[in-house]
Amino acid sequence: MARPAQARIDLAALRQNYQLATTLAGSAHTVAVVKADAYGHGAAQVAGCLAAAKAFAVACIEEALALRAQGVSQPILLLEGFFSADEIPLIAEQGFWTVIHSPEQAEQLACASLTKPLPVWLKVDSGMHRLGLAPAQAINVYQQLRASARVSNVVWMTHMACADELDCAYTAQQVACFQAALQNMSVPVSLANSAILLAWPQLRNDWVRPGLMLYGVSPLLTPLPKAAALQPAMTLRSAIIALRTIAEGEAVGYGAAFIADRPMRVATVALGYADGYPRHAPTGTPVLVNGQHSRLIGRVSMDMCCVDVTDIDTAAIGSEVIFWGQGLPVEEVARHCQTIPYTLLTGVTQRVPRIYLP
Ligand SMILES: *Cc1c(COP(=O)(O)O)cnc(C)c1O
Repeated sequence: MARPAQARIDLAALRQNYQLATTLAGSAHTVAVVKADAYGHGAAQVAGCLAAAKAFAVACIEEALALRAQGVSQPILLLEGFFSADEIPLIAEQGFWTVIHSPEQAEQLACASLTKPLPVWLKVDSGMHRLGLAPAQAINVYQQLRASARVSNVVWMTHMACADELDCAYTAQQVACFQAALQNMSVPVSLANSAILLAWPQLRNDWVRPGLMLYGVSPLLTPLPKAAALQPAMTLRSAIIALRTIAEGEAVGYGAAFIADRPMRVATVALGYADGYPRHAPTGTPVLVNGQHSRLIGRVSMDMCCVDVTDIDTAAIGSEVIFWGQGLPVEEVARHCQTIPYTLLTGVTQRVPRIYLP
C-alpha cells in the first residue's frame, strides 16, 4: 500500500536525449548539466545513467560533492564557481572545474595555495548582465590566469539570454560581443545551452552544456523538428482516490472557486502543491485520466486536486492520472500555468518518490 503520487523517470529516454545532444554536438564535448538535482530527476541516478558523459555541471560545490559521494568520477564544473575562497583547495582535490566570473574570484584564486593547478572556465558577460566579466576586463583576467601556476587551462564561456527565441537578433549581438572579447585568440569556447544546441548549429563548439533537453523537454518557444525527437524523461502521475457526481451550480474545492455549469462527475486525485504541482494551475489545465485528455477544476490543495471526468467513462477509484510527461508535454502544462518547464520539473518535492525505469 502506498500513496500513488510518483515521478517516473525513464532512463532509456534520458539516454536517448543525451544521444541526440552528442549527435548535435558533433566534434564538441558535452557537459551534462545536472544542477538542482538534475532538474528534479535525481542527480546521482541521472549521472549514473549518463556515465558516458565527459563531464557534468552543477550550481555549487555542495551539489558536486554529493555527486562524488555517490561515486561519480568525471570532472564536475561549478557553473558559478566558488562562493568563498576556502572552497578552492577542495575544488582542486576533488577534480572539479571552476568558473571564474568576476575579478574578485580571479584574485582569490591567485592567492590560493594549491598542490595542483585547476582547469578554469572564464565567463564573459556578453549581454545577459547577470554573471561574467565585461569583455574588456576578460582579457586582463585571462592573462592573469594564464600566468598563474594555479591554473592549468582556460575555456572561454558565455551564456545566452534569448536563445529560446529562434529569430532573435540579441543572440547574434551576444555572439559578436563574445568574439570581440576573444580578440582572434584560438582558445576553447563554450556557448551552447539546450536552446543553442538545438537551434543554432554554428555555435556548438567546443563544449556544449545541455540541461533541459537531456530531460526530454524543449526550451524553444516555437516547435523545431529536432526538438520533436526529445522524449520526456519524467512522468508525474498519481491516481483517483474519490469520485462523486455534483449538480449544476455546485462548487468544487477551496474558495468554492469552481462552479459546475452542468451535472458533473468529479474525481479527487492524490497530488497537490506540496508535491510541486503548481497551486496557480488554473481550471482547464490539461491532465490525462486513463490516457484520455481531461482538465483540472477548482483550486489545487496541498495534497489533492480535482479533475473533470464527466466524459471519461473508464474513470474509477485507482485510475491513473498523469500531470505531465508521457503523452502530455510539460511544456504545454507550463503554458497553461504561465510558467516554464524548468520551474515545474525542479519544483517536484522530495515527498514524491522517484521511480526509475531502466
Ligand atoms: C543551467 C545552465 C545551462 C543549461 O541550460 P538549459 O537551458 O537547461 O540547457 C547551461 N549553461 C549554464 C551557465 C547554466 O547555468
